[in-house]
Parts: sequence; structure tokens; C-alpha cells
Amino acid sequence: MKNDFQGITSKKFPIPKAMKAWVLGDPDQLSLVEKPIQMPGKAEVLLRIDAVAICATDLDVISHGPPAMIEGGLPFNKNFTPGHEYMGTVVALGPSVDEFEIGDRVTVEIHSGCGQCKRCRMGMYTSCHNYGLNYGNVNKGHRANGFTTDGGFKQYAINNINTLIKVPDKMSDEEATLVVTAGTTMYGLTELGGLIAGESLVVIGPGPIGLLGVAVAKALGAGPVILVGTRDSRLEIGKKLGADHILNINNEKDIVQSVKSIAGDKGVDYVVECAGTEQALNDAIMMTNRGGKICLAAFPHEPVKINIPHMVINNIYMYGIRGEGRSATHRAMAFMNEGRFDAKIVHTHTFNMKELPTALKYARERIDGAIKVVIKPWS
Ligand SMILES: [Zn+2]
Ligand SMILES: [Zn+2]
Repeated sequence: MKNDFQGITSKKFPIPKAMKAWVLGDPDQLSLVEKPIQMPGKAEVLLRIDAVAICATDLDVISHGPPAMIEGGLPFNKNFTPGHEYMGTVVALGPSVDEFEIGDRVTVEIHSGCGQCKRCRMGMYTSCHNYGLNYGNVNKGHRANGFTTDGGFKQYAINNINTLIKVPDKMSDEEATLVVTAGTTMYGLTELGGLIAGESLVVIGPGPIGLLGVAVAKALGAGPVILVGTRDSRLEIGKKLGADHILNINNEKDIVQSVKSIAGDKGVDYVVECAGTEQALNDAIMMTNRGGKICLAAFPHEPVKINIPHMVINNIYMYGIRGEGRSATHRAMAFMNEGRFDAKIVHTHTFNMKELPTALKYARERIDGAIKVVIKPWS
């Protein structure tokens, strides 16, 4: 395949024939193997992966399968490499690619939609109607690296140029892996939510998305921004990222009343719900003001009972986000490049390639206060 490659490579970045890659066998079974390196096609580049962060969704994929979908089914025993929050260096350009140069440092979005369905045409490529259709005679060209195509727990990856965001020299590899998480909340707040400066907002659940949600909301001029959670250590990090108020549910008699005592009796304009429990969803509904919006950034693992009558009577909007969209990651990068918030403080641990199983354990069990755990595939 490499011999008839029509694109561009450079002596500065020699590309080996094979790389180290983790692959998923049965649920929770990962093994480190060698995989051949494919070369990029039209509108694609080959990246040398320099850092990859672990996301809660990776843990779901590795243990249960969804939302990963390989060849129309579960991702187990299909030589599939998970991992989706990575960054790296461009080492080969596919035919006709002139948007990037070899040696560029880039971080990635996950989804490259089919580009032809109704949602892709609207820029909502994370809601592509051809999700997972990239094989055999249903190949619509959709890619979601780490979900429907090979991901980042390996040394090289092919990416569509639409998924790449240039990384400024001064930004570390580790920080650059966080752009997609910040970009996801950016998409939820601005493109889907329509947030404008001065609107009030609550984030429930100080995980990586919730914490960076606080940071992005604050950078967008929201206020007051209130962070609700159960662990003081995480709430304190939220404060460093700009939360005007933090509330520990365990210390509050009635969390809805506590929010209203800060934001006013009518409640807040936005709630970003990152806990995914029935209680949190109902709290979100009751603390949102009439005409306000609830962005669902987490999901319960089973159907739950929520107060629909209250939502209807009060004209409350509720909408899910699935990853980034409309190039929101570029706007998140603009904020991070300007130092509007310090995303680095959610990165807590770094491991080498061989230590992925340990790293996953740290992320899953939140060992030693782990929030964002990063793998360096070349160490
Ligand atoms: Zn993720
Ligand atoms: Zn599409």
C-alpha cells in the first residue's frame, strides 16, 4: 500500500511499517500488539500521536461496547483500538492536502461526518445520520475515531483534515488533548444553546466536561456560574476554573433552594447536567427558570422518570449533546490559546504506553484524585 502512496512524506519523520497499538478483545480485555501503518487518502493526514487522554466514554466502550460501533455491531474482537482524545504531529499528507504541513502539531475532533446527510450539511456532524456506516457496501465515509474507526491508544492515526485544530507552540501536548472536551461544552452552550453574556448557569457534576463547562461558560461571560457536586476537592478545582459559587449537595438541605438563593427565585437560565442521575435531572428541571435551557451532557444508563409537566408549563428546553460540532473546538482552542482559563489543572496523571491498563484503573476508580489521565504513546 505504501509503495503506491501518492501523498507527501518527509525524511524528518520516517514512517515505520508497523506500530504499537492496544486492541480490544472481549470486554475489559486489552492487549498490546503490532499493527501495520496505513497511509492517508484524499483529505486525510497521518498523525504521529504524541498524547492521548482517557475519557469516561472510553471506559464505557472498553467494558460495554456502545457508543462504539464497528461494522454495525459491538467493538469486541475486531482488532479495534479505542481512545479518542488525542493530539500529535502531522507526518504524512494525503494526495492534494495543502491545508497542513508535515511537522504541524495538531489536536483532533473525534467526528468526521459523511458530509452528505441533512445533519452534516448543517454542521451537526456529530449527529450524522450515517453514523458508523464506513464499511463494505454501506461505506458513507463516516468516521468517529475511537468509536467507529480506529482510535488513539496507538502510535499513529489517520485523520480527516476537517478534524484537525492547530496547536500553538506554547501549549503542551497534555493541555492540547483537552481541547475537544472544552469544545464539547462550547458546542452545547453556544451553537446549540445560544448562551450570551450575563446569563446565569449551573453545572451539575464536576467531571472533566462539567469543570471545563464552568471554564467555558465563564469565558463566554455567563454569570453567576454555580457548580454543584459532591466532592469538595473537585469543587475547589471548579472554583479555580472560574465558578462564582460552589455547592456541595451533601451540605445543602435543598439544592434547588440553594441555587435560587444565589441566582434569584426564578432560577437560572441554563443548567449543564453532567451527572446523569434521575435526581440530578429533576433538580436541573426545578432550578431552571421559565424559558430556560438544560443541556444534557451525561446520560443515565436506563430510562428515568422526570418532571415533564413542569417543563411544559414553564417552557423549559432540554437538549442532548453528543460530542463536539460546528467546529466549536476551534473556538475552545481560541480561548485556551488566549489563556482565558487554565485547562491544565484538570490533567492530573501521565502514564506511558505500556501502562494503559493502570491508567484506565486510575481514571475509573479516581485513584489519587485522578481527573484527566494522559498516555504518552512513545514513552
Ligand atoms: Zn471523550
Ligand atoms: Zn452525515
